[in-house]
Parts: sequence; C-alpha cells; structure tokens
Amino acid sequence: MYTELSLFIDGKWLNGAGRKGEDVINPATGKALGSLPHASKADLDAALEAAQKGFLVWKAMSAYDRAKIMRKAADLLRERAERVATVQTLEQGKVFAESRIEVLTSADIIDWYAEEGRRAYGRIVPGRQKGVRQIVLQEPVGVVAAFTPWNFPTLTPVRKIAGALAAGCSIIIKASEETPGGCFELVKCFADAGVPAGVLNLVFGVPAEVSEHLIPSPLVKKISFTGSIPVGKHLAGLAAKGMKKATMELGGHSPVVVFADADPEKAADTIAAFKYRNAGQVCISPTRFYVQEASYSKFVARFTEYAKNIKLGDGLEKGTTMGPLANPRRLDAMESFVNDAKGRGGKIAAGGSRHGNQGFFFQPTVITDVPDDAKVMTEEPFGPLAPIVPFKTFDEVVERANALPFGLAAYAFTSSGATATAIGDAIQSGMVGVNSVAISTPETPFGGIKESGYGSEGGIEGLQAYMNTKFISQA
Ligand code: NAD
Repeated sequence: MYTELSLFIDGKWLNGAGRKGEDVINPATGKALGSLPHASKADLDAALEAAQKGFLVWKAMSAYDRAKIMRKAADLLRERAERVATVQTLEQGKVFAESRIEVLTSADIIDWYAEEGRRAYGRIVPGRQKGVRQIVLQEPVGVVAAFTPWNFPTLTPVRKIAGALAAGCSIIIKASEETPGGCFELVKCFADAGVPAGVLNLVFGVPAEVSEHLIPSPLVKKISFTGSIPVGKHLAGLAAKGMKKATMELGGHSPVVVFADADPEKAADTIAAFKYRNAGQVCISPTRFYVQEASYSKFVARFTEYAKNIKLGDGLEKGTTMGPLANPRRLDAMESFVNDAKGRGGKIAAGGSRHGNQGFFFQPTVITDVPDDAKVMTEEPFGPLAPIVPFKTFDEVVERANALPFGLAAYAFTSSGATATAIGDAIQSGMVGVNSVAISTPETPFGGIKESGYGSEGGIEGLQAYMNTKFISQA
C-alpha cells in the first residue's frame, strides 16, 4: 500500500543502491513502512548542476507552455488522489478524508499558480523625457532550494514547487524524511506530466547536512522553508550570508477570541473541528482560546463535548475522526505541556494523556483555568491541546492575544460588525479569520509576521516571491 521511495535528480529516479538511508514509520503502528534513500554530497552537487541547467530550459519556455505542463500535473494528481492520500495517511497519520482534501487542494494550487504565472505582468512607467521608455520587468530568480516539514506532506511542498515553477524557476526540494511519500508522489505527477529534466529535483538526507550544502551554493538564489522558528532563524542566517531571498513560514500560537455577542455553541462547533484537524499539528491551528466571561461556561461545555466525541484511531479505518501524532517527539511534548498546566492549577476537562500502547496516540484534550504564563499558553503546542480561558474586555483580550512574539494566524467570533472590524485591525497576525476559519486558499496570501516569519505563499504574493524586479530605461 505504501510506495517505493527514491530521489529524483536531473529527470532520473535514484534508489537506495549504495546510499545511506532511514526507515519511514507508520505513526499508527510504530512499524516501518519502507526505506528512504539519502542523497550523498555527490547527489546534491548533481542536483545543483541539474537545477541550473533546468532553469535555463524552463525560463526559456513561454509561461503558456509551462502552464500546460503544470495543469497536466494537477490532473494527474487528481486522478491519483486516492492512492496519494493513502500513502500520506500511512506515513503521517491524519484521517484519510483529510488526506484526500489535502491532495485535491494541492492540485488546485498547481492549477492556480499555472494560470497566475501567465499574468506575471511588468509595467511601463511614463518617462520624463520624450522617447524614453521606462520598463519594469518581472524575472524568475533562478534555482530555488526548499525545505518542508512532516505535517502536510503534499500541501507544503506543492506551494513551493508550483510557485517556483510558475515563475519560471527550477527547484530542489528537500521534503520531510519522516513523511516523504506525499512529496514523492507529487513529484512523480510533475515528472509524468513532462517537466524537463533538472527543473524539479527531490532529495532527502540529514536535514542540517542538506541545507548547509545547498543554501551556500552560488547556484541557489532563493530559499523557502516551512517549519519551526529555531530552524527558520538558522536557515535565514545562512541565506543572509549569501544575500539570498528567503521565505520563512514558521510556527505560531494562534489566539481565538470569542466575544459574548457570538453564538458560543456555534463558535465552539466551528473552532473545535478546526482545532483537532490533523491532531492539531497545523501551523495555523487555533491554540489559545479566550472566551468573554458571559459565554465562557457554555463555550467550554460544548467544546468539551466535541472533544470527547472524537474517535481516535488509525486514519485509514472507517469512522476514525482523529489519527495519531506524527512522531514520538510530539507525544513527549504533549505530556510536558499537560504536566506543566496541571502544576499551575489547570484543570483537564477532556483527555490529558496518551491513548493505547501502540503508535503515537494522544487524546483530544481541553484544559481550563490555566494561567497566561503556562507553557501551553506561551509555546506552540502543535498537538491536540485546547487551553480555554475567560476574558473581560476588548482591550484586555487584545493585549493578551498580542503578548507573544508570534503572529501567524488568529481567529475571532462576534455578531457585531464594528467588533469584527476592530478585532481584525487590532490583532498582530499575518492572517485573521473573523467568524471564519477559511484563511488558507490558493488565491490568498499565507504567511506570518513577528517571529512567525516573512514572505507569503499563495496569492499573487506567492508568485512574486520567486521573481526579481528589473527596471530598464530605454532611450
Ligand atoms: P524541528 O525543529 O527539529 O524540525 C522542524 C522541521 O525542520 C522538520 O521538518 C525538520 O526536518 C526540519 N529541519 C530541522 N533542522 C533543519 C535544518 N538544519 N535544515 C533544514 N531543515 C531542518 O522540530 P520537529 O520536532 O520536527 O517539530 C517541532 C516543532 O516544529 C513543532 O512544535 C512546530 O512548532 C514546528 N513545526 C512547524 C511546522 C509548520 O508548518 N510551520 C511544521 C512542522 C513543525
């Protein structure tokens, strides 16, 4: 059911022969699914050379022709959605229905970028003197090195691959070694759609060794990373040494503000479903819940009921509504967050511990009465934990919501138009969902501020991230 993994360099699939590697583990069972080859230094050099060669070929093609190949890749991904989603669930743990949506959304992202690449317009600025043309052009930056994490094996790579390819760049992607199959299947769709050799290259290895080899290469002109803040800062530093463009999509700690004029039960249903998606291992997952006093007990009761009704299990089994955590590190982290919260007077309204003795399952958890300086309120939990606390006034909750050094996503619920506008303006965050959790679409910018990173993926900003602006003054 899983897949035969390999590297993809210069249009060739390279298997494990003679290479180091590692096993890929099914988080629902703890057992090995398959083995993943690591790229050697010579493989990485071959990928760099191929990407440079591929860039020149791809850049010379019209955006119209590039779009045709990209749309074919999107169609192949749709055709293969059931299979790719199965691979993803096996390696990452999320429920099959979520995997399927992720794969289909990935196909939409390719289509959107394919079209947007045809609209990478420049402009003519009127000259000061007669006969002078002032031309602004958008040009692809060149070879891109991209690094993606384990929580969205297809979606995170596709944002980088489709953005780069639509702009006319080539790319070397190092996807997660823990969940490599989704990106492997995605790259196969592009290869089968006819992307020329060298334009798209897939490598795996020891993350630090790969990034430290690729980023300083003079051939690489742009870095894109999704993952944790400490790693993001390290890679941004490496990029800065070569004065290279970088997009950093890092962690957050998303506040949810529920005002007393919102329907607390409707808000609880909407946000609880969003909270436990992918067992909370989502960078825009709602992670700190502030509920205005008058609605607090109703919201907590409904949210807790939702959490208790979740069916934990293997993501491929029918009826499962939440899968395991992706790796044992998350289990240890959840235990540490819960113990810290309990030690500071927090009450466990649902869950609070591991589930079963096979795989990496942790119960959907609701924590109340926890102080603002508890670990779960200050560090990104990246798991199925929902701390819920009361607040009194607008100004107070804005101050608490903005108190952390992160700013990726935020959510608010209110029935007042004035409050909706005011909270949207007041929250320091790259994305804000007001009475909505739909903050991630192919057409709209996705990215954070403060320590959550810089740059956007998605929307016209996502395409721009792979382009240089050139000005030509022609007399
Ligand atoms: P981690 O910090 O070790 O790794 C995060 C990701 O970066 C992994 O995919 C890893 O392979 C990669 N990585 C690590 N060192 C690297 C290097 N030197 N060069 C290139 N890539 C490197 O942590 P983890 O245990 O995998 O996850 C822990 C935390 O990371 C989570 O709590 C969460 O805050 C964050 N995270 C964020 C996202 C996101 O979507 N923004 C995704 C996954 C993890």
